[in-house]
Amino acid sequence: MENKKELRNWLNAFGLEHPIVIAGPCSAETEDQVLNIAHQLKDTDATVLRAGIWKPRTRPGNFEGVGALGLKWLQKAKEETGMLTATEVANATHVRLALEHDIDVLWIGARSTVSPFIVQEIADALNGTDKIVLVKNPVNPDLALWLGAVERLHSANIEKLGVIHRGFSTYEKTRYRNNPEWQIPIELQNRFPDLPLILDPSHIAGRRDIIFDLCQTALDLSYDGLMVETHFDPDNAWSDAKQQIKPTRLVEIMEDLKIRKATDTEAEYRNALNTLRTQIDVIDHQLIETLGKRMKVADKIGALKKEKNVAILQTRRWNEILGKMILEGEQNQLSEEFVLRIFKAIHQESINHQEKIINN
Ligand code: PEP
Ligand code: MN
Repeated sequence: MENKKELRNWLNAFGLEHPIVIAGPCSAETEDQVLNIAHQLKDTDATVLRAGIWKPRTRPGNFEGVGALGLKWLQKAKEETGMLTATEVANATHVRLALEHDIDVLWIGARSTVSPFIVQEIADALNGTDKIVLVKNPVNPDLALWLGAVERLHSANIEKLGVIHRGFSTYEKTRYRNNPEWQIPIELQNRFPDLPLILDPSHIAGRRDIIFDLCQTALDLSYDGLMVETHFDPDNAWSDAKQQIKPTRLVEIMEDLKIRKATDTEAEYRNALNTLRTQIDVIDHQLIETLGKRMKVADKIGALKKEKNVAILQTRRWNEILGKMILEGEQNQLSEEFVLRIFKAIHQESINHQEKIINN
């Protein structure tokens, strides 16, 4: 697949003044629930109503979705509100049923994107469709796998394509349910600047209080849209209760977000500059986190050295590290002088950490 301006045609056709907003419950629960939420969303910035009909659950025993029955509720919601409808499809039968019920946007979930077999089955079932198809990132942080899924759909003559960034699983506990790993969508965006990119802050956050900040970061990175789980009674939702927000909260969020519009070349220049600055901020944040992690390992070494009563400074090891880093620096277009300066500073901080440990 190559980047082409036409990748954005379907998005431009909406003629929206703001990023596209897809909102609605994690799962369709009852007809009343779907209709109630749709009516609360219809006069907001949300253009598309989402609801999961078949729910991929990590472990069995949780609510697995209402099944095909719910597609009728989505159709009714569309009739009553004029909103477009969206649901997740995970196999050829889902695709057939969704198309039969005239669902407008079909998305491939994170647990499906990981499997080329499943993605191919879905692509074959969708071949040539004029529906919009969005691909969530795979659960594991693998850009090639994500792009591979988009390519399979593209090869199946599907033109209205986009991607959804919903974060990545980690074994480590973090403040997120799924780590954003912003560098991955940033790289995707650099390679395919015209492929519409949508943020799903709900599945990244796993909680309500950081949804706004995630949305703002995405808009600062020039994302094209947001998919936000929205329920009239989030606490009692049948799935993902902790992360859903009320339609009224979504309206507030949309009011408070700073959306940058390119009205002229000056604004375009400022937007491009801001996007790049936000990319730098994301990378700086990772640098600091990585340095913090390195010092924690140094602390552990300090504790071992204390136990064995060994000197902190071990010149041979230090010279080995430096030599390796200078070589790696070269491969990354970093001058020897720069690498030396950085690593001297890092080394000094490690020694300070270890001294603290040994003297305590
Ligand atoms: C969902 O959107 O409700 C969902 C199951 O998402 P994901 O595939 O990102 O986990
Ligand atoms: Mn969900």
